[in-house]
Amino acid sequence: MSSLLIKNGTLIDPTQQLEARRDLLIRDGKVETIDETINAEGVKTVDATGLIVAPGFIDLHVHLREPGFEYKETIETGARAAVAGGFTSVCCMPNTKPVNDNSSVTNFIIEQARKAGLANVFPIGAITQGSKGEHLAEIGEMKAAGIVAISDDGKPVVDSGMMRRALEYARDFDLPVVDHCEDCCGATGWAMHEGQYSALMGLKGLPGLAEDLHVSRDIMLAEITGARVHIAHISTARSVELVREAKAKGLAVSCEVAPHHFTLTDRDVFESRYNTNFKMAPPLRAQSDVDAIIEGLRDGTIDAIATDHAPHHANEKMLEFDRSPNGIIGLETAVSLALDRLVHRGVISLSRMVELLSCNPARLFGLARGTLKAGALADVTIFDPVKQIKVEAGQFQSKSRNTPFDGWELRGAPVATVVAGRLVWTAR
Ligand SMILES: [Zn+2]
Repeated sequence: MSSLLIKNGTLIDPTQQLEARRDLLIRDGKVETIDETINAEGVKTVDATGLIVAPGFIDLHVHLREPGFEYKETIETGARAAVAGGFTSVCCMPNTKPVNDNSSVTNFIIEQARKAGLANVFPIGAITQGSKGEHLAEIGEMKAAGIVAISDDGKPVVDSGMMRRALEYARDFDLPVVDHCEDCCGATGWAMHEGQYSALMGLKGLPGLAEDLHVSRDIMLAEITGARVHIAHISTARSVELVREAKAKGLAVSCEVAPHHFTLTDRDVFESRYNTNFKMAPPLRAQSDVDAIIEGLRDGTIDAIATDHAPHHANEKMLEFDRSPNGIIGLETAVSLALDRLVHRGVISLSRMVELLSCNPARLFGLARGTLKAGALADVTIFDPVKQIKVEAGQFQSKSRNTPFDGWELRGAPVATVVAGRLVWTAR
């Protein structure tokens, strides 16, 4: 098989406490050696001078839309967006049509991803059949087919008894439960965060309390079941505090944050003048929530950065604000936002960023990745921490364009992506 030599880069790998200039030699899809200087004859070489070489980035939360909504995204276009964004692996949510609640859908996703041959795609199975919250899905059968977690993402599991049973099953199958925390608390049909801006805009709001109630309930359920609960797209100050307390108690609770939730607030929704690319679930919150999220990223309460990449067709996003679907794409802007907003502002170090985007996601979902130790699968992300870029949604690999960051200028960007030793993408 082929070989690849990545020379002169700064290798950052928190799993071996490494942050130093090193060469990296890959053979047969695996890391062979890391050393100060490696010379290998006749081997394809990538010059990474001035660049960071890290274990491949893993996105725990994407929507690839296939089967059922191929006009928004396919597994192939989603995988292309992933590698263009510096992600070597993505975990895809089950809210397709049909829902991934049995092994035939799981097998279909794995097969389409294999055909695309770009990023690794790890399916997440549904918790309940059709994600309707009534009967448990075929969890054991899907686990055998290759799911890495279960979730009814997009919808909360409203029935606490059902959630308890799901956690007990998941514990027995050693699967994390990815938790979409949204207690309706009377707020159906909301369009944004409940606060001064929703009042000013005349839009129905969803209070932060809706998230906090579910996070609180599910932490208690994690405690009595011993199951692993992973809070998806955390967005409120109170929820971050609840996770911090759960971790202090030693519970198996983790959480992820989406780049838009550490970058934007409900004030940006107001200033966007009803731009539906600022509409997502959970909604963009208040500045005090964003401040708490930044602190959670800094102190280790937040385990991972995940995009919640949610492609929608332009026609769907052109509806009135309150009628437009929730969600924005994120795969091709996440790394630049993390560098610009977190690293360059001194919130986190580069090594902590690699933990949030690679080592921790691998550990949380039990993926044999997130490290560049000798013998590991050679998934590698190469990025330039200082490259100035302008976000151009028109140039994205994703089929969809629904991003609030179009035209933004950011510092730092991915430049090359290696999956199983194969260079699958390089920046123009
Ligand atoms: Zn989602």
